[in-house]
Amino acid sequence: MTIDLQQLKTEGLLAIKAAKDKLELANLEIKLLGRKNGELTNILKSLKDLAAEVKKEIGPLANEVKIILESAVAARHRELSASAWENAAAGERLDITEPALPHLDPGHLHPITQVGRDLEDFFAKLGFMVLDGPELESDYYNFSALNFAADHPARDIMDTFYIKGHDPAAPAGAGWLMRTHTSPMQVRALQKYGAPLAAIVPGKCFRNESTDARHEHTLYQIEGFMYDTDITFAHLKGILEAVAKHLYGPEVKMRFSPKFYPFVEPGVRGEVTCFLCKGRGCRVCKNSGWLEIFGAGMTHPNVLKAGGVDPAKYQGFAFGLGLSRLVMLKYGIEDVRLLESGNIKFLEQF
Ligand SMILES: [Zn+2]
Repeated sequence: MTIDLQQLKTEGLLAIKAAKDKLELANLEIKLLGRKNGELTNILKSLKDLAAEVKKEIGPLANEVKIILESAVAARHRELSASAWENAAAGERLDITEPALPHLDPGHLHPITQVGRDLEDFFAKLGFMVLDGPELESDYYNFSALNFAADHPARDIMDTFYIKGHDPAAPAGAGWLMRTHTSPMQVRALQKYGAPLAAIVPGKCFRNESTDARHEHTLYQIEGFMYDTDITFAHLKGILEAVAKHLYGPEVKMRFSPKFYPFVEPGVRGEVTCFLCKGRGCRVCKNSGWLEIFGAGMTHPNVLKAGGVDPAKYQGFAFGLGLSRLVMLKYGIEDVRLLESGNIKFLEQF
């Protein structure tokens, strides 16, 4: 049996080396290693009649021969391929002026990415850092650290996906969830960088919604915040007015009205004059002439405390721009679900 295998190896290697073309090599491979009637396979099949001790000895040897022959076939295949290329090149002239094959459409950036990157550039020029944060977030950072009381109904309007398991750093009873806003990064950034600080956080947020044209389980936000010893409401207004003018042109007007968010005091809803009807009223602005594009306010002292910053020394503001909403308004998209749909006919329009 051992002798059969040695012989198969020696003769096989010689024959493989001598194969003149790929067809001959392929036939040889079947003859030596073929699963049905290959010579090595036949030897292996006969093993079953042997005693256990002999099998133990022959098995590894047969395997070794198999590997050697397989790699010899692969090596000869490479040699034959290389020489085939040389032969072809010798007989042919390579015309480097020949037109290339047409390019496939390389695609383009998603409209949310386009508008998001434009705003990142805008804020970077104003000196804001651009930060990233975890989408799987602890209840602590998503709610508690942002001054949401444990039983406050503001949690209910941000129903999200809750994950099993617990954040060891969070207080007892706090679990993991998919973040409902990019605001948790206010506290995370303060803990990491301290004040003074100016940063924006673009990213995905999640809601447990029954989806329809106006509701989606995944949406995009840009959170922004600025903290220092002398930041006032005037800074908040100045920055957001600059954003509105950047997005909708120098003519745009902006107005604030009071709105409650647990992590700011006072809190505002920010609206701009409708860029389509210039404030006269149309379908996009529901005949009001105004479009709500952000929520904002002066950061609540409890948020600064959670970030390890003394609210007696530092103040600041925070705002959240609905990026999905900005994109829908910019392009007149009427169904939010299209943004996450991967629908090529939809995406090709941008
Ligand atoms: Zn309008």
